[in-house]
Amino acid sequence: MSDHTNCVFCGIVRGDIPAIRVHEDAATLAFMDIRPASPGHTLVIPKIHAPDLLAISEADLCAVTIVAQRIARAVHQALAPDGIRIMQTNGAAAGQTVFHYHVHIIPMQDGQRVGTHGHEHAQPEQIKALAARIAAALKS
Ligand code: AMP
Ligand code: ZN
Repeated sequence: MSDHTNCVFCGIVRGDIPAIRVHEDAATLAFMDIRPASPGHTLVIPKIHAPDLLAISEADLCAVTIVAQRIARAVHQALAPDGIRIMQTNGAAAGQTVFHYHVHIIPMQDGQRVGTHGHEHAQPEQIKALAARIAAALKS
């Protein structure tokens, strides 16, 4: 489905690069951000490579957006944050670091600083536990 050999997210789609997945369907994949801005930070991507909003097909844009809403609802149910930030970057000047379209779902707490990215790799076990709670809420 995706054969951009040097693209990290295509590598995740192919299964060559590990990721903690919370949702997969024919067109999209959702997985935990490796450097979360907050606990529960999740990414949604199209399986077909497109660098950004300008390039993605309307069909994949719709598919990713619908899944982003589902993930946001699951995060709301599972983690009960005070708010949920949806972020999407286009171009390095906008802060984009991975050039495969993705939507960030970032749980926010009252008073939490609105940063652009996490700074440290979180503990995999902690991320896995959060992913399990989000995945369970997705199924409920
Ligand atoms: P952006 O800067 O908007 O392009 O966001 C890219 C996001 O991808 C950042 O939040 C990174 O922490 C995240 N990221 C990069 N590599 C991986 C990976 N292998 N698995 C999960 N998340 C990743
Ligand atoms: Zn890609």
